[in-house]
Amino acid sequence: MAATPRPSADRVQLHGLGVDRVTMDDTLALIDAFVREGGPHHIVTLDSSMCVTARADAELREIVRAAELVTPDSVGVLWACRRAGCPLPEQVSGVDIVDRLCARSAERGHRLFFLGGAPGVAEDAAKRMATRFPGCQVVGTRDGYFRPEEEAGVLEAIGHARPDVLCVAMGIPRQEKWIARNRDRLCVPVLIGVGGTLDVASGRVSRAPRWVRRANAEWLYRLLRNPRKLVKALTLPRFAWMTLRAPRARP
Ligand code: UDP
Repeated sequence: MAATPRPSADRVQLHGLGVDRVTMDDTLALIDAFVREGGPHHIVTLDSSMCVTARADAELREIVRAAELVTPDSVGVLWACRRAGCPLPEQVSGVDIVDRLCARSAERGHRLFFLGGAPGVAEDAAKRMATRFPGCQVVGTRDGYFRPEEEAGVLEAIGHARPDVLCVAMGIPRQEKWIARNRDRLCVPVLIGVGGTLDVASGRVSRAPRWVRRANAEWLYRLLRNPRKLVKALTLPRFAWMTLRAPRARP
């Protein structure tokens, strides 16, 4: 079978990692192609905190470099690429990808599995998506707090559910390492790390109002409503410093 074409053959280099020059529509089209082709394909949704974590984590760096698709998840990543003279078309975040996949699941027949979050979160996310998008097929759920000895059972449950897309929401870098370790054992065409997406999809965490999102300030909104995010926010000055020190593109 012919290999899936690389997303516009365009991978921009950012802080030693690659990020693909793709729009949301390109991403959805690639997911369709990955599902047709069969698995596994790892999609990384790259945000500023992952760039900082990968600086000191060689394993994560290798996983991001080897991923079949890396989308720009945050406005920080868009800013840094623009500053380096390689502007990207738009933000393609995990939250939005999962929303769009659920919206088109009925029409495309794509089967989704939600793995991650505290007990009950993935289940509530599946119920809410089924209400918002009638016909959306979330074929299995499991929380992200299983013990190592339970992992075989989790893999088996995913295998039985036969999803096309496995959304793994266990935080950075746990979800990326979990996918890399298990991708070849699972017969799933698309595996995507989506961070706190299931908390949002379940309704436990609300999205910022549209005007806040348009002002590129959703990260600040979520930080103010969840001080636990402060640890993650502490990586932002480091990201800004790394970006400002990197050579700037000449106009
Ligand atoms: N989580 C999990 N298992 C763990 C640790 C975290 O399922 O062992 C979940 C947590 O409940 C939350 C998500 O991972 O739903 C991490 O969300 P966050 O917004 O912090 O993600 P990140 O900022 O790392 O993308």
